[in-house]
Amino acid sequence: MNKRLPPLFLQRIRHELPSLYEHYLQRSDRPPWKGLRTNPQKPLPPSFLTSLKPIPWSPVGFYVEEKLGHHPFHHAGMFYLQEPSAMAVVETMHIQPEDWVLDVAAAPGGKSTHIAGYLSSHGFLWSHDKDRQRATQLMFNLERMGFYHGLVTTGDIDALIGSMPSFHKILLDAPCSGEGMFLKEEKAMDQWSPELVLACARVQKELLENVAPLLLEGGELTYSTCTFSREENELQILDFLKRHHDFELAPRTYPDAFDTTSTQGVGARLLPSELEGEGHYVVTLRKKGTAILPVRKIAHSSIPPTFQQFMKTHRVGIPEGGHYIQLQERLYWAHHTFNLSPRQCLNPGLYVGNIKEYGFIPSHALSHANHLELPRVELSWDDPRVKRYLKGETFSFDQKDGWYVFSVEGQGLGWIKMVKGLAKNHFPKGLRILHD
Ligand code: SAM
Repeated sequence: MNKRLPPLFLQRIRHELPSLYEHYLQRSDRPPWKGLRTNPQKPLPPSFLTSLKPIPWSPVGFYVEEKLGHHPFHHAGMFYLQEPSAMAVVETMHIQPEDWVLDVAAAPGGKSTHIAGYLSSHGFLWSHDKDRQRATQLMFNLERMGFYHGLVTTGDIDALIGSMPSFHKILLDAPCSGEGMFLKEEKAMDQWSPELVLACARVQKELLENVAPLLLEGGELTYSTCTFSREENELQILDFLKRHHDFELAPRTYPDAFDTTSTQGVGARLLPSELEGEGHYVVTLRKKGTAILPVRKIAHSSIPPTFQQFMKTHRVGIPEGGHYIQLQERLYWAHHTFNLSPRQCLNPGLYVGNIKEYGFIPSHALSHANHLELPRVELSWDDPRVKRYLKGETFSFDQKDGWYVFSVEGQGLGWIKMVKGLAKNHFPKGLRILHD
C-alpha cells in the first residue's frame, strides 16, 4: 500500500467503495496507466498502432508505455497523450459532426481536442478555462491538433455568458479534489482533505448553475470529475436535478466495467479496481424539449491585401467565407464572431499569421490547420532531417525560394523558408527538442 494515501480518504472509501479500498491495499504502487488518443482529422499510419492495445471504451484510444511527447507525430498533432479513463467522457457525449459545443473547464485540452476530432467544419467548439496560463496551453493544444472551428476564452465565465450563443452540448469537466490523480500526481495526495472535497463541491454547484441556461432545449450537459467522492459526483447531480425540473438523466448504456452500482444509476464511476485506468466519474443530463439551433450566418469580410498576396504566391487555400480579424499585426480567420474583448478571447479562430510592413509571416498554427491547401515539402517521419528540423537546425534543401510547410505523412510540423537552397527553420523556439 502506498503510505502517502490520506488516512481519512482510505477510511471513507473503505465503506463507500470497498473494492477500491482493497485494490489500494494490494497494489497502489503500480505505475499509472497511460494512453494515446488518435486525431480523426490527421490519420496516423496504421503500422504505428498495430502493436498498441486498444482502450475498450474509446475507438480512438490506445494504451502506451513509452514516452512519446517528442515523437514527430505528436508534434504534428496526430495524437494526444491522455489518461485512459478520461477518454470515456467525450465518448459518452455522442458528439455529432455539426454540434455546437461548450467546454467549460477545458484546459489543458484533453477533452476539447477529443471533441474537436469529431466535429465537421459546420460544428463549433467554444473552449473556456478560468486560468489564463492553462487556457494558453489549451489554445496551443487545439492548434497542434489542427482545429480552428471554435474559439478559446478565459476569465470568469459569468462575465462571458451575455456574449455566448446556445449550445447542443455542454461539457463541465469540473475542477475537483482529484482522488483519481493520486498515483499520477503525488501532490494531489498532499492537497487532499475532506474540506477540499466540500469546497470543490461548492464551486461545481456554482458552475453547473452558470452554464445550465446556455443549453438548448433537447441539448445535453455532460458532467465529469476525476474524483470518487459522492458529494462531487452523484449527490451533486441529484441536488442539481432537484432544483432544475427541466433537466433529466439522459439514457446511456455504459460498458460493463463501469460502476453504476455505487452511483445508484446516476452516471458511472470508472474505478481503477475494475478497469485499466486511474478513475473518473461521468454523467449526462438532458434538457427537456427539442433542440433547434438558430441558424447562424457565417460572417464574411474581405481578405487583407498583404495576406491575399501571400495566398496567391504560395497557393494557400483558406475556407470560403469567414471573417478576418486583425489585432495589431496578428491576423485571424474566424467562422463566427462574438462580442468579446481581446482579454477574454485568447483566440477567435485560426491564427493565420502576422502582417508586417515588408510582407506576411505565416503562423505556426496555420502550418497545422486541418484540411487546408498549403505549400508543402513531404518527408518520411524517420528521415534524419525531421529530427534536425525539430531541433531547430538550418539545412540545405532542394526547393525554390519561398515558404513551405515541413510535413511528415501529410501533416505539418511547422514552416521553413527557402532562401537560395537553405531551409531557414521556423519551428518555434519553445517547442524545439534540446537533446535526444
Ligand atoms: N477538461 C480538462 C482536460 O480534459 O484537459 C481538464 C480540466 S481540469 C479537471 C479543471 C479545470 O477547471 C482546470 O483547468 C481549472 O483551471 C479550471 N477551473 C477552475 N475553476 C474554474 C471556473 N470557475 N471556471 C472555469 N474553469 C475553472
